[in-house]
Amino acid sequence: SEYVPALMSYIDKYAVDLRFSQRLVAVDGANRTATFACNLPDGSVEHRTEAFDMLHVVPPQVAPDFIAQSALADATGWVDVDPHTLRHRRFDNIHALGDVANTSNAKTAAAARKQAPVVANNVLVALGRLPTLAHYDGYGSCPLTVERGKIVLAEFTYGGTLAPSFPGWLLDGRQPTRLAWLLKARVLPALYWQAMLKGREWLARPKPLRAEGAE
Ligand SMILES: Cc1cc2nc3c(=O)[nH]c(=O)nc-3n(C[C@H](O)[C@H](O)[C@H](O)COP(=O)(O)OP(=O)(O)OC[C@H]3O[C@@H](n4cnc5c(N)ncnc54)[C@H](O)[C@@H]3O)c2cc1C
Repeated sequence: SEYVPALMSYIDKYAVDLRFSQRLVAVDGANRTATFACNLPDGSVEHRTEAFDMLHVVPPQVAPDFIAQSALADATGWVDVDPHTLRHRRFDNIHALGDVANTSNAKTAAAARKQAPVVANNVLVALGRLPTLAHYDGYGSCPLTVERGKIVLAEFTYGGTLAPSFPGWLLDGRQPTRLAWLLKARVLPALYWQAMLKGREWLARPKPLRAEGAE
């Protein structure tokens, strides 16, 4: 909710007609129409067909079939892990990270970046080569590009707790800033290719758990 005022100011600026509780159910490409199932206040559902010039659709997030249909999945299809240790709830020698895990963080590469060292640590614990489990706090980050040259940098942990990487005087993630744009456009690609993918990410070192299974 801390990020809503900045985003709503852009909704107003761009005169976006926001409509919630509608689900795209059919597209007629030849005639350029889209049909939505709209939830009405009385609980009924009405189908409405709208004309479009350009349609941008974001598909629902689902796990791949080979995971969803496996013994690893929970009822919703994602790999069923402890949200902090990322160890499978039923198979102690299996861990998961990234979009496929059923953790409630935002499914982002920023989350996978923080999860990877936790899983690496906890695999070594499972192998008996390290004593202390590491702990993922649910960190995720969404750089929301609101205009060319400006980004609202939303960063939060489990429960929507704000988790800014920078002090507010330097970069207030709740406001659109040029610094956040420069971070995304200039710094993060190098961090991704040179540090994250090569395992040279000292900034993303995991926090140890005080006791196994502790929150
Ligand atoms: C448009 C868009 C913008 C995004 N922007 C951001 C952003 O700004 N910041 C951010 O942090 N995150 C962003 N994300 C999210 C980020 O891309 C994902 O969270 C991240 O890629 C997840 O990584 P992953 O390794 O878990 O899964 P993926 O990157 O999905 O990797 C899974 C891999 O498994 C492969 N695979 C699937 N099935 C099989 C199989 N049967 N056998 C072998 N391989 C298989 C797939 O081909 C894929 O390469 C964005 C995502 C999208 C779609």
